[in-house]
Amino acid sequence: SSLLAPAVAEALTRSSWIRKMFEAGAALKAQYGADQVYDFSLGNPDLPPPPGMADALREIAATLDRPMALGYMPNAGYPHVREALAALATAEQGVACTAGDLVVTCGAAGAINSFFRAVLEPGDRVLALAPYFVEYGAYTANHGGVLDTVACKETDFSLDLEAIEAALARGETRALILNSPNNPTGQVYTAEEIQALGELLRAASARQRRPVFLLCDEPYRFLTYDGLAVPSVLPYYEHAVVATSFSKNLSLAGERVGYLLVNPAMAGKQGLLDGVILANRILGYVNAPAIGQLLAARCLPALRESQQVPIYQRRRDCMADVLRQAGVEFFLPKGAFYFFPKAPGGDDLAYVAKLQAQRILAVPGRGFGMPGFVRLAYCVDEAVIEGARSGFLQVSKEG
Ligand code: PLP
Repeated sequence: SSLLAPAVAEALTRSSWIRKMFEAGAALKAQYGADQVYDFSLGNPDLPPPPGMADALREIAATLDRPMALGYMPNAGYPHVREALAALATAEQGVACTAGDLVVTCGAAGAINSFFRAVLEPGDRVLALAPYFVEYGAYTANHGGVLDTVACKETDFSLDLEAIEAALARGETRALILNSPNNPTGQVYTAEEIQALGELLRAASARQRRPVFLLCDEPYRFLTYDGLAVPSVLPYYEHAVVATSFSKNLSLAGERVGYLLVNPAMAGKQGLLDGVILANRILGYVNAPAIGQLLAARCLPALRESQQVPIYQRRRDCMADVLRQAGVEFFLPKGAFYFFPKAPGGDDLAYVAKLQAQRILAVPGRGFGMPGFVRLAYCVDEAVIEGARSGFLQVSKEG
């Protein structure tokens, strides 16, 4: 008699941990005032869009006085935007990419969903490496797939290649998701790890007689510390695709712009691209938003002058100092804006509750498929991190 499909009703009762912390945070903020709550629960960049964004929007506004200025467009996105994105992708990936190799999507989330719609059959297995961005489970299920997980090494969250090989040996995997820089661990996988992973996937593809795709989710590619570069996966594995967006680097998450790039070296890539372009249309959002695409394209030059990395690096170092002083064990993030420290005592729920009593909001690691850890998002002002110091110390003192 339910109005809902059972799977959705079930998903609602599970409600994500990030959502639960968001609600707990809202209650604390109402009670104590927002400046008395140290909220590390959300990956919503607090830095404003780059300085040129407002001018870009005004310039776009000045061009709208013509028919279809904001009308339907080719489903893969505006051709000139695809050209600009291909130049960016070529620079970032170190591989020559053309406009025809990519599809403009509604963020990385839209890119992943369009890709899964194009390649998954009911019951197909997708492999995620825990801890992982929990929406992968929903994105897979949206298209009839089933998410399997393999844990990364608990010491530094590097790839556990033996465990991945064992999972691939089951012979059921259609795609493996690699997210680097990683949410929630801050790990950036090395070229050696990616090369070894490519070899495992190639062998699995040959055994299965159909390709295992490597889906590289890269919205944090711009954000690494100490000058580290994120290796491209494209030279190491022909059946790789890249999903990314401007949600984080242009603080444009609400405008929904990203793209899916298919490895230019993939045999038969046009068929896959056609499928993704169709999916981009038929999933209901009917391609990426016009203003968002125009804005992102105009702001691409601003990415080169972006001052965001040093700001995040100071925050990372400040958070590391707080955790070190509190005696909390952690892996120092190499990229993205998350810490994934060990919960002292081993119980992530208990530690999150103790932090919450100090008005500090963290998300339990079990929300990312790895209990025993917590996630702290540091896309917040340094004053918030500094302000939380005494609370972290207090929790450690209480034991
Ligand atoms: N992938 C990861 C790892 C993320 O952290 C996020 C957002 O937080 C996304 C994908 C989706 O981002 P968007 O669809 O806004 O590009």
